[in-house]
Amino acid sequence: MIRQRLLQDKVLCIFCDNEVGTRTKPEHILLDALGGRMTTKWADCNHCNQSFGGTIDKVLPEQLRMLRNMFQMKSGSGQPPPGLSKILASTGTITLDSRGRPKRVGGKPFTITPLGNERYDVSFSVDSMEEFRKYVAHAAAAIGVTEDHFWAKIEGQYASFQNEYPGTLHTRIQCGGEEVVRSMVKSSLVLLATRVGTMPLKDAAFAQARDFVVKGSEDFLQCFTTVDARDFPESAYQYLLENHGPMFNLIYVRSDDYGRTLAYYHAFNIASWQMVLAEKGGPRNIEIGLASDPLNPARWDGDLAAKVSLDFDWLNAPDGSRLNDVSLARVSTVLKLHQDVSRERTIHNVLNDVLGHYYDEGDMIEMDEKGRAAIIEISQKLVAALMQIPTKEKFLLRRSKQPGAE
Ligand SMILES: [Zn+2]
Repeated sequence: MIRQRLLQDKVLCIFCDNEVGTRTKPEHILLDALGGRMTTKWADCNHCNQSFGGTIDKVLPEQLRMLRNMFQMKSGSGQPPPGLSKILASTGTITLDSRGRPKRVGGKPFTITPLGNERYDVSFSVDSMEEFRKYVAHAAAAIGVTEDHFWAKIEGQYASFQNEYPGTLHTRIQCGGEEVVRSMVKSSLVLLATRVGTMPLKDAAFAQARDFVVKGSEDFLQCFTTVDARDFPESAYQYLLENHGPMFNLIYVRSDDYGRTLAYYHAFNIASWQMVLAEKGGPRNIEIGLASDPLNPARWDGDLAAKVSLDFDWLNAPDGSRLNDVSLARVSTVLKLHQDVSRERTIHNVLNDVLGHYYDEGDMIEMDEKGRAAIIEISQKLVAALMQIPTKEKFLLRRSKQPGAE
């Protein structure tokens, strides 16, 4: 009797019969890379979690890499945004580091031109003083002098930084494919498990959905998943924008009186998928939603359905016929948003840079000579940065790093 009870109390993985529980690795319901913070230990086992992590879960974040970099999106667990390599810009091929700063590909960090009589012209192409200091050692070695000797020659002289902009970036944003939808069905099942446990999801009603996640199936993709291009019901949309930002993510699961169980997955407010998790026979009249703001992962809500309800009939009637028009409009909105966001970021960076030169943390900023000089420098730099005018800035070469001096 007791043994029977214990067996019943075991919680098994949705996708295999391994036990899950307090010692299971937490599964991110919305992928960590997309800013997901809600996790559960009570849905899939370490083995399945790891196997999805290395396969189907990698594809969508990869497809959205450009956007994650453009908007400087950190992961749910705080990992920096991804860098990008081999981006075609109007100035040539560049990479973007995780802070979105462009760097030309293939350029040498320094070039040395012998002038005769053991004199050399050395020209550096670097992005920061930090990087410059690093390459001084390499340049010294290339000429055959010590680093000390090299610094002795250049310290106290003026040099200039030339600021360039990459111009227009050529890129494509595309998302979808079977692996992406498998990962979305998995996320939806895991979300549902947080409400009903794993047992009902191991039932035959969900067999096709489970198999699709684990093995993939062209039939399931065709028959039970649809790319949706309809607008959201207005009040739900307004709520999501206000509470989870202009690029919100949403996973929503709802079932009816017959246990027909539908999932809706909306990614970065660009693309939506509707998926039939069970045609009938699942847990009845369940409604659960998870929404998040990838621009601010702390703004997530795993109890969304208590605030916003998506009608079952609406969820049951996806329509992809306007897909091209709708995708184009949504991507344009996102690109416009990016212009605004990067303008704000530019202003923030210029202010920080210039004020950091003039003042220490906590200093009062007054309209004395120093204050006026700072204001003038801020306005000049803002104009240059916002209009992307290449600029040259003179500075003194110093070997030691001084706080606030760069
Ligand atoms: Zn498992």
